[in-house]
Amino acid sequence: MKKIIATLICLALTLGMISALAEETPAWMPNWDRDADVVVVGFGPAGAMAAKAAQENGASTLILEKASKEYAGGSAPASMGFIKPYTAEEICSSAMGRMTMEEAQRMFDKENELLDWMTQNGLNIVNSTSEGNGPGFYDVVVKGIEALGIEVLYETPAVKLICDPETKEVYGVQCQQADGSDLYVRANKGVVLCTGGYAANKDLMTRFHFADMIDYALAGAPTQTGDGLLMAVEIGAGLDGVSNQQIEWYGYSYKVASDEMGTAILHMGPSLGPDSRIFVNTNGERFMDEEMYIVHSKCQMPFLAYDGTFPIYNGYFNLSMYVIFDQAMFEAGPVGPRDYWCGYASMYDIYNWSEDNQAELDRGWFVKADTIDELVEKLAAQSGNDPIDVENLKKTIEAYNAGCAEQSDAFGRSEFYLDPIGDGPYYAAQILPTVVYTIGGLSGGPNGETLDWEGNPIPRLYHAGDVGQPTKILIAALQGALATGDIAGTACSQLASH
Ligand SMILES: Cc1cc2nc3c(=O)[nH]c(=O)nc-3n(C[C@H](O)[C@H](O)[C@H](O)COP(=O)(O)OP(=O)(O)OC[C@H]3O[C@@H](n4cnc5c(N)ncnc54)[C@H](O)[C@@H]3O)c2cc1C
Repeated sequence: MKKIIATLICLALTLGMISALAEETPAWMPNWDRDADVVVVGFGPAGAMAAKAAQENGASTLILEKASKEYAGGSAPASMGFIKPYTAEEICSSAMGRMTMEEAQRMFDKENELLDWMTQNGLNIVNSTSEGNGPGFYDVVVKGIEALGIEVLYETPAVKLICDPETKEVYGVQCQQADGSDLYVRANKGVVLCTGGYAANKDLMTRFHFADMIDYALAGAPTQTGDGLLMAVEIGAGLDGVSNQQIEWYGYSYKVASDEMGTAILHMGPSLGPDSRIFVNTNGERFMDEEMYIVHSKCQMPFLAYDGTFPIYNGYFNLSMYVIFDQAMFEAGPVGPRDYWCGYASMYDIYNWSEDNQAELDRGWFVKADTIDELVEKLAAQSGNDPIDVENLKKTIEAYNAGCAEQSDAFGRSEFYLDPIGDGPYYAAQILPTVVYTIGGLSGGPNGETLDWEGNPIPRLYHAGDVGQPTKILIAALQGALATGDIAGTACSQLASH
């Protein structure tokens, strides 16, 4: 009898344990391959500082990085490495009501503290610019993190956040390894998303910013595909500051060249010499001051002028856009980036423009003709677009040249740049508006908490850097990524483990 009772007790205990185990391991939870207290997704400056702060708080830390070591860092190594010290007041006002003065002061203090750390690790800032530009800046980040012994898994993109489907509490990340297999990483305290912006994601750019598909070139990193934003949105995160004013534009690029090289190949006027060029639309009309400085500008862009009025729907009527220039400009120096210090193509030595423009002409990146009629024909053949209205174009050149003679311009182009388009031969190319990165993104709380659409924090999910900068005009960038990374990493590492 005693034996039977003992067997029944054992059976009951075993069943109890099994049911407890079943409760502890819900069906949505994978078998974890790795774990760390704080899992940081993305090894740009934001991710690096999130991991550093978490480690300094005693949390074990792991960084997951999509790219190989050579191409990691996203926008940072593609950047110019310009560091501008903004005041706490400027930071506060650039957040446009999203930040208290106290929070802005904390960000300012963090920026300075972390720039000091960068300097101690070898960063040299000359004329407000990092020595070695973006690659120089990022090199210091990498060496600093390696010296702290923080592990980085390269070529391991995060593809999904693992969360409790009811509470949305984040438990870890699903990644993809180089061989295509999954890797499940458990985050005991939480996840910090630092995956950068979404400028390389044409679908998101179109949905967020443009009424119609527009063709644009990207001078930033191809890794800016908005992965962190999409993963967070999938579990209910809200967005903030996603508007045309959060696109960072960077001039114009040759379409044929950029398509061929897979990244923006910039169009530039020669730094010295005549600026005898105009931009025109397919009607052969000018529509802007070609010298308008659009870098960091938050104005409405003239190339995005739009008419969606029913029933004469006309869309972005200044796109496609073209540059027309003359022999004097061709001879004055490179009309593209030669030995340049900004942008993905230059920083990764993808293309260095020739000194005399001949190699690019030979490659068909722009066309040459003795007359305007022939130029328009060749341009249409090269671009595959409808030909520009040739009679309008001739009138446009005449009007522009007449303005140059009188030192006045219909679009307000400064006298300094008013050089007439001379006799043939002429040159032309389709050019594309060019984006470097985006600022708006995930909605965030003061400590980098990722918020849902109602403003509630998603448990154990944080973000930093371009995936959702708290400041909404350009003021954060590199130093903001450092500071927001630190703030989010600190907050996440202070949580109790699951
Ligand atoms: C051409 C250019 C010039 C610039 N010039 C300046 C300048 O002079 N001064 C300045 O202050 N700012 C500049 N910026 C902006 C600055 O570089 C960015 O604001 C800053 O790098 C943002 O840091 P981040 O860490 O948020 O993102 P990033 O630097 O973009 O890093 C994001 C990282 O996340 C990784 N990642 C992406 N998806 C995943 C995924 N699914 N899983 C794992 N990892 C992922 C990326 O590979 C990358 O390593 C410039 C940017 C560009 C593109």
